[in-house]
Amino acid sequence: MDMDKLVSLCKRRGFLFQSSEIYGGFNGFWDYGPLGVELKRNVKEAWWHDMVSGHDELSQLPGAPSTFDMAGLDCTIIMHPQVWKCSGHYDLFHDFMVDCKESKKRYRFDQLYVVRLEVTPKFSTNPEISKRAEFGEYWTTLAATPDEQKADVYKRAGGKLSIRSKNVDEAFKISDVKKLPDLLKQGVTLADVIGPDVNGAGSLTEPREFNLMFKTIVGALGGDDDAAFLRPETAQGIFVNFKNVIDSSRVKVPVGIAQIGKSFRNEITPRNFTFRSREFEQMEIEFFCKPESSQAWYTYWRNRRYQWYLDLGLPRERLQLREHHAEELSHYSTGTADIEYAFPFLPAGEFGELEGVAHRGDFDLRSHMEGKLNPETRPLQVELGPDGKPKHRGSGKDLSYYDDQAKERFIPHVIEPSAGADRATLAFLCEAYHEDTAPDENGKPQERVVLKLHPRLAPIKAAVLPLVKKDGMPEAAQKIYRALKKQFNAFYDDGGAVGRRYRRQDEIGTPYCITVDGQTLTDGTVTVRDRDSLKQWRIKADDCPAEITKLVKGE
Ligand code: ATP
Repeated sequence: MDMDKLVSLCKRRGFLFQSSEIYGGFNGFWDYGPLGVELKRNVKEAWWHDMVSGHDELSQLPGAPSTFDMAGLDCTIIMHPQVWKCSGHYDLFHDFMVDCKESKKRYRFDQLYVVRLEVTPKFSTNPEISKRAEFGEYWTTLAATPDEQKADVYKRAGGKLSIRSKNVDEAFKISDVKKLPDLLKQGVTLADVIGPDVNGAGSLTEPREFNLMFKTIVGALGGDDDAAFLRPETAQGIFVNFKNVIDSSRVKVPVGIAQIGKSFRNEITPRNFTFRSREFEQMEIEFFCKPESSQAWYTYWRNRRYQWYLDLGLPRERLQLREHHAEELSHYSTGTADIEYAFPFLPAGEFGELEGVAHRGDFDLRSHMEGKLNPETRPLQVELGPDGKPKHRGSGKDLSYYDDQAKERFIPHVIEPSAGADRATLAFLCEAYHEDTAPDENGKPQERVVLKLHPRLAPIKAAVLPLVKKDGMPEAAQKIYRALKKQFNAFYDDGGAVGRRYRRQDEIGTPYCITVDGQTLTDGTVTVRDRDSLKQWRIKADDCPAEITKLVKGE
């Protein structure tokens, strides 16, 4: 699938716009248009319904209660600064970046690809480029796929080569593609590396740490003591409210507390459409359970969350559940799995994270009780500063749980399924995009773009179309439209040939079109057209709300 086509459809039909576009856009920030906001809301509502409000799952885990509670929460974006000190984000939430002294740009170290450029001497009229190729200099690029990398490096060097386009492959080869950190591990130094926006080697600085939290000031005085942070994840709001939820509702451990909300990360190189943004939404669950059953719950959540994406239309061949290797795990975690999707902008065979499911042990609750724990020690110990005192003190509050049936007190272990609403929305959009043909009103095949979104996710569930704009058809169609609107998002369209109107709906993923024609006026029936199978059948106009609701729910 060509990503450019999806990006242009998203803009043309009002799914996604660049933030502050009239001012040239703002890198890493995206706005959802009229259809995009409906799609993303449907993703979040499907998650909330399936995980929280409609939750009626039986765990079927040996030794665990067969039912369990799920509760919701909505916390603030700005929290007490101590939250981030105890969570570890203040000290540890950073990426490595490299600066370019020449272009003055900043890049994420692990996202720079390097390629070796080979120039066939007889084609090069530029001795400078040939020399670089001969001395083995590496060009870095931000492009992800080999073709884009080639195009990028070619653009930067190729303009100076006298080659006819048919000879490009012969004249100009790139090889040895790898990520910059891997190259440096082989002993190559940055002095031989050409930055992504310049044409000479040696301008990149050594990698440095960069904290990803956005800083802000709370209060009028604005001193350093008033610094606060925009949350980089919604999870911490759940941990610090664990006791409040337990004490105020009748839920018992095992219990999941869920939250959907904005998170902010000052990503060094936001890219790939909304995949890596600086402002995004997360859908997170912290599932609190007994330590001895935590491993079983981990497996349970990992599988359940994977199944959720399958149920909403991502196919198994492009969706993988990847267990982290032992060396990838944090010391406090006994298991982490990523649910990953083969986004079309990634090189073939590579997957991008949609959701992480992590076994976090009692790390978070204990840190907020006792003070920041050292994630490198086992057993975990409170981290001490140079003065021998706790580096970041915890709340001192007792966040343990008393199980009144077993008559025991313990600090619950936590399983965290942490998903991104924007990444899920993007994956559903990528998967939905199809180009095929559908017959027009005269039965002639016409090319169409169709978003095959799951009906639950589709921004508009049904469009009502009078065949012609006369003979009472618009009035009959309007009546159906108003009845549908009471149940779900519907659309009325009487402009242009009906085939064209079908295609306009196909392009935005509307699963059902209801057409009012001459027969409607005599026998009260309408045609329903299915977006994917193109099948058409007649139902009673009065039955439309109930019938379409059933179809959307898959009943
Ligand atoms: P990555 O390695 O891609 O930066 P991460 O492992 O840091 O992601 P988590 O901290 O596990 O991500 O966050 C949980 C989820 O939040 C991710 O799986 C993803 O869906 C979403 N997410 C994280 N960072 C971003 C971002 N910059 N833009 C959009 N979504 C994000």
